[in-house]
Amino acid sequence: MTVESSDLKQQKETHAFQTEARQILDLMIHSLYSNKEIFLRELISNASDACDKLRFEALADESLYGDQPELKIRVDFDKDAGTLSIRDTGIGMSREEIIDNIGTIARSGTRKFLESLTGDQKADTQLIGQFGVGFYSAFIVADRVTLISRRAGSDEAWRWESNGQGEFTLEPAEKADRGTEVILHLREEDKDFLDDFRLRDIIHRYSDHIGFPIEMRKRGEEDADDEWEVVNEARALWTLPKNEIKDEEYKEFYKHVSHDFSDPLLWSHNRVEGNQSYTTLLYVPEKAPFDLFLSRDEGRKGLKLYVRRVFIMDAAEQLLPMYLRFVRGVVDSDDLPLNVSREILQENKLVKSIRAGIIKRVLDMLAKLAKDDAEKYATFWNNFGEVLKEGIVEDISNQGKIAKLLRFASTHNSDDAQTVSLDDYLSRMKPEQEKIYYLTADSWQAAVNSPHLEAFRKKGIEVLLLTDRVDEWMMGYFREYEGKPFQSIAKGEVDLGKLEDEKDKAEREAREKAADDLPERIQQALEDKVSEVKVSHLLEDSPACLMLDEHEMAVHMQKLLQQAGHGMPASKPRLEINPLHPLLQRMKGLEDTAEFAEWAHLLFEQALLAEGGQLDDPAGFVRRMNRILLQLNRGEATDSGE
Ligand code: ADP
Ligand code: MG
Repeated sequence: MTVESSDLKQQKETHAFQTEARQILDLMIHSLYSNKEIFLRELISNASDACDKLRFEALADESLYGDQPELKIRVDFDKDAGTLSIRDTGIGMSREEIIDNIGTIARSGTRKFLESLTGDQKADTQLIGQFGVGFYSAFIVADRVTLISRRAGSDEAWRWESNGQGEFTLEPAEKADRGTEVILHLREEDKDFLDDFRLRDIIHRYSDHIGFPIEMRKRGEEDADDEWEVVNEARALWTLPKNEIKDEEYKEFYKHVSHDFSDPLLWSHNRVEGNQSYTTLLYVPEKAPFDLFLSRDEGRKGLKLYVRRVFIMDAAEQLLPMYLRFVRGVVDSDDLPLNVSREILQENKLVKSIRAGIIKRVLDMLAKLAKDDAEKYATFWNNFGEVLKEGIVEDISNQGKIAKLLRFASTHNSDDAQTVSLDDYLSRMKPEQEKIYYLTADSWQAAVNSPHLEAFRKKGIEVLLLTDRVDEWMMGYFREYEGKPFQSIAKGEVDLGKLEDEKDKAEREAREKAADDLPERIQQALEDKVSEVKVSHLLEDSPACLMLDEHEMAVHMQKLLQQAGHGMPASKPRLEINPLHPLLQRMKGLEDTAEFAEWAHLLFEQALLAEGGQLDDPAGFVRRMNRILLQLNRGEATDSGE
């Protein structure tokens, strides 16, 4: 910061933008020209937020209104000067607030924003709003922006100005009214925004249902002083009867609340009357927002709480469970006190019942979509399925409802599409089948090729293939569906129950016989690696596989945790062998203990690899394999020589 004279109060100061602010500005100026008009939406949205904030603060201190009770927004332009201004009578900003809010960007989202830029302008423009960098969008069309602001309750005003080139100036100013005025000095090529018709059109499209009046000068009276008219609908959309609202209006309102530039996937608008009355307008986005998977502690946005039309706060954390964090919209309560605080929200009974109502609405709306429009539902599932699955664990009281919404990849499908519902699965179960079989794995590839599937495939029994990260965790809490228990085919004692027929039983005996003393010998060789060696009756083509205890975490997840630095005591799996396999038959003939041990290790290691696990000693594995390959070669050479 450089100070140009000693008298601070009268001084014009120059500040440098923070690095990230500079990068954002650069982007605005140089890359975002595919959808320029969004700047107006962003600035009006800020003006509307400022009016909301004043109305809220004035609940506690009415004097903040001064002699100016009206909350409104004015859009004006001056063709000769080449300027466009957006003025509000909202909360305004103090000097510090100006520096904090628009001089620096300390928001955690900003860096993420810069990282997630794709280079595709259209997509990148759409990201801007989501990251709370809306104000800087002024620089898309302006080469200089002046902001003059006077905070409610203060008589000091400040003028901020910048050409978006790394610095801004700040100096005391005169301002008769409370609030903020943003003046854009438009670039030559963007002067076409200085047009009454064009501006009204943009306001209609983006800001019609902002709850405050947006005024422009009366038509044809640009010179007549102070003849203004309201150009937007200025009625909060959710307060209107459903049949008076067009789909287009619902979509625009969504863009306003969500800062998303795409249309929503679906919405649900409801008025509840009874013990308590409230209105909800809830949206499901079409695409996952950038921060959906951010750390769960990150403050959540997306659901605005109003009390009798007064905006109170963003209350997603109180009104939505984590697993519905993708939902956007507004809730307007008739019964909550206006001075409700975050603390009160945590405790409040009314809030709890609104929250339960919202959860029900969202789950019902999704169930209806799943029933009516499979394609749209697939879009939803592919974006948000992983998040919804958290609900199986977090919301036991709604587990049944959430379970109906789940979709899985399955051996019934020939590709990795997650389209199979649990009801689909039940409808295809064999008459004697008692369990819902599933397998978790690192990837769909790993799952479909897993040795565990061999017997199920042969008998035509469907197995669900679970490959999302949350799946292991979810299945730990998901015991049964419609009375049918889940069974991992890689854990515990897997049996086919009544699905096993006489032939299977006979084969099982044949296998035990063929195994002879192999299990004991292998066990001896692998003592420190496996808990037990058993004959498998489920392997067909593979020589061996690993089985875990019922409550053990799958091998590929263990690897993930280890890689993330969570040292886990490696649990010893059980090795199941297929004694009919030629490899095992060959092992039977190996007299030499050292050689036998070598083979046993190889058997274990390949089973571990097939499971997506990590070898303790990869180089050792390679050495062993090479040695055995060479021996085989020699063996065959001698065989033929005899
Ligand atoms: P966001 O609106 O997502 O917070 P913006 O970049 O649009 O991000 O605005 C940054 C901040 O600047 C706002 O959070 C607000 O504190 C402040 N601000 C912007 N415009 C106004 C305004 N017209 N009146 C008061 N404060 C404003
Ligand atoms: Mg904004």
